[in-house]
Amino acid sequence: MLLAKQCYTDLFGLLFPNLCNACGVALYRSEHLIFTKCLYDLPFTDYHQHAENRVAKQLWGRLPFNAVMAMLYFRKGAKV
Ligand SMILES: [Zn+2]
Repeated sequence: MLLAKQCYTDLFGLLFPNLCNACGVALYRSEHLIFTKCLYDLPFTDYHQHAENRVAKQLWGRLPFNAVMAMLYFRKGAKV
């Protein structure tokens, strides 16, 4: 039964592969939504390690918050 299910999953994946949302490459079984290389290349900030980060400074006095951060840098035309 397990083998039949795996064959069905592989055939379905061959016809309708899961594609990376960033580059469109077919994903491996262990990957979800984004290819491992694309995930590695994402422009992560380290704002979660700094309470007085750039985003917090921009929002001080405008919104009430305890902590704020951005996980990724945004660049026009990039994968994010
Ligand atoms: Zn990708």
